[in-house]
Amino acid sequence: MNDFDERWRALRTEIAAAAQTVGRNDAEIQVLAVSKTFPASAIQQAYDCGVRRFGENKVQELAQKAPRLPADIEWHLIGHLQSNKAAKALEFAAWIHSVDSLKLLERLDRIAGDMGKHPRILLEVNSGESAKSGVDYADLPELAQAARAAANLDFRGLMTMAPLDENPAVWRAAFDKLRIARDELEQSLGIRLPELSMGMSGDFYQAVQAGATIVRVGSRLFGHRDYTV
Ligand SMILES: *Cc1c(COP(=O)(O)O)cnc(C)c1O
Repeated sequence: MNDFDERWRALRTEIAAAAQTVGRNDAEIQVLAVSKTFPASAIQQAYDCGVRRFGENKVQELAQKAPRLPADIEWHLIGHLQSNKAAKALEFAAWIHSVDSLKLLERLDRIAGDMGKHPRILLEVNSGESAKSGVDYADLPELAQAARAAANLDFRGLMTMAPLDENPAVWRAAFDKLRIARDELEQSLGIRLPELSMGMSGDFYQAVQAGATIVRVGSRLFGHRDYTV
């Protein structure tokens, strides 16, 4: 067993423990391996351990890595996306977690149509003023309505990042709030929104307890990130 394999198993064990505290089945929780800043070789090693879903937060980095790695990898774009990079993003990403404006939504819908693609999207919601991106809760219903109407996008749910805070109860409250907002949208729009993308290396435990279906875990799997490279 190599290091990645060991970390992956330990993570899955903790996810199962968190799920058990609230009576959830951990089989319904996906781990997205966040590979930003890590080289293609690290991703290949994870791939060789059976991992197929990877998250990148920059379009440029995704476009550099994806062509050098196996074609059956499912790439998720999780970082802020500028509308002028929408086409490049759709070239490589099957999922976009960070849709946070009408302008971006409309552009993704139009370009996906031109490309004959049907990407899965999540709407990113801002859980606190420390977060740089995400739609405010007040503007979420309007954006969600537009997402439902977008013919070329598969609207799957919501994503958030917990506010920067030391207190796990604050993270948990932010995650609970996202789940409740999702439940309300399912009611008002009359559609299923099965995915809640929430929880990272430091707070996935609380996210799983609150109902996360996708946890986005980077450093816990790949090690410390060096932003200078
Ligand atoms: C980097 C990143 C993650 C993973 O962060 P870790 O703390 O390394 O697990 C998750 N989500 C987003 C949006 C990120 O940018």
